[in-house]
Amino acid sequence: MTTQPTQNTQNAVSAEQTVSTGTTGSNDSTHVTIIGAGLGGLTLARVLHVHGIAATVYEAETSPTARAQGGMLDIHDYNGQLALETAGLTDEFRDLILEGREAIRVLDVDGSVLFDKADDGTGVRPEVLRGELRRMLLDSLPAGTVRWGHKVSGTRPLGAGRHEVTFADGTTVVTDLLVGADGAWSRVRPLLTAVTPEYAGMSFVETYLFDSETRHPASAKAVGGGSMFALTPGRAILAHRESGGTLHTYVMLSESREWFAAIDFSDSAEVTARIAKEFHGWAPELTALITDGETAPVLRPLNALPVGHRWDRVPGVTLLGDAAHLSVPNGEGANLAMYDGAELGKALAARPGDVEGALAEYEQAMFTRGAEAAAEGTELHELLYGDKTPHSLIAMFTGETADSGDNEDSKDDRTP
Ligand SMILES: Cc1cc2nc3c(=O)[nH]c(=O)nc-3n(C[C@H](O)[C@H](O)[C@H](O)COP(=O)(O)OP(=O)(O)OC[C@H]3O[C@@H](n4cnc5c(N)ncnc54)[C@H](O)[C@@H]3O)c2cc1C
Repeated sequence: MTTQPTQNTQNAVSAEQTVSTGTTGSNDSTHVTIIGAGLGGLTLARVLHVHGIAATVYEAETSPTARAQGGMLDIHDYNGQLALETAGLTDEFRDLILEGREAIRVLDVDGSVLFDKADDGTGVRPEVLRGELRRMLLDSLPAGTVRWGHKVSGTRPLGAGRHEVTFADGTTVVTDLLVGADGAWSRVRPLLTAVTPEYAGMSFVETYLFDSETRHPASAKAVGGGSMFALTPGRAILAHRESGGTLHTYVMLSESREWFAAIDFSDSAEVTARIAKEFHGWAPELTALITDGETAPVLRPLNALPVGHRWDRVPGVTLLGDAAHLSVPNGEGANLAMYDGAELGKALAARPGDVEGALAEYEQAMFTRGAEAAAEGTELHELLYGDKTPHSLIAMFTGETADSGDNEDSKDDRTP
């Protein structure tokens, strides 16, 4: 049984979320408290729902539309799509796919095309909008599953696998099964490990151009039908064609936190001028993705947890997604978060009466896949932004090595 959180009293725990660890062997008595309604937390809630296990998701944002949800995500057949299948949402997911967006091109800084691959419909990484994917997951849950406007400010162990969660408004809940799906700066993570994310030495600056075919035709042509990469070591312009002619750009700069701190991000004109200066001499249709930006440029510092970090089992609590294994964006994070959610949901459903066994099984596999993805991500970042870019990236797409001849067998269909 779950009770609504209530005002904290001097007795500290004023609201109790009663959660059976399943000692009766009945899934009906298991109730899972999930912190964070991102893709990972929602996938877990959905898979639990499919198996008849109740869950409550506490989310800091005040409503599903409180924040723009970001851009396109390619959903992989070996993790994200499997998670959605486990969630019983494959048909709904297929309805969200943006056709033709698997096209990839690499441009030189003068705008000339170095590599161009059309979307011929044979790709296995369909692109969807993150906001639509999240909406689909929300719609698949029983009403009231997500409690909006519940920002966790702290957590503390009460012993015997129970935990108290405190929200910013002073209310609390107590749970026997707590899952931190609250992203990079997880408030649940300290229950398990002392590690914190560290700045990865690079940041994105995000811009948007709308109705690009009509209003920004040169940039629309440069970006093409899907993803466009224009790269030099330490500097890059990456853009996606989203729905309705929207061009979503991530400008990457390998600079320190201090370098970005010297720019006043409340002044869009200053940001645009300062960032565009770093791309002096690049083709105007590329720099226009910055200078013609129609939204205030948003700074996204990239942070990561140590590759391969893990923790000893702590009864009654675990993590998934970015809260567990944050890496610099490598095209896997959202896919992995959904996969973690699905795997954890399956493990709990498969072991009624043995929550600890389920958490241990889930964590062992999750540690391995998180570490592998992070290591591959590091490799991918070197191909994208390292000394040999853009030829290293093109070689990845074509199966050649950056230095030498052809190798068709090693052709790689990863998309960053
Ligand atoms: C610029 C950029 C581009 C990316 N591109 C891709 C891509 O193309 N493909 C891909 O697979 N991945 C991509 N990623 C990575 C991906 O966004 C993350 O890995 C993924 O969102 C992780 O999902 P999650 O559910 O673990 O966490 P999140 O999506 O971060 O969700 C966490 C949720 O918890 C909530 N929350 C946070 N703190 C609290 C709190 N204290 N109390 C209550 N709720 C809280 C948040 O509001 C949020 O709703 C990208 C990341 C960035 C930064």
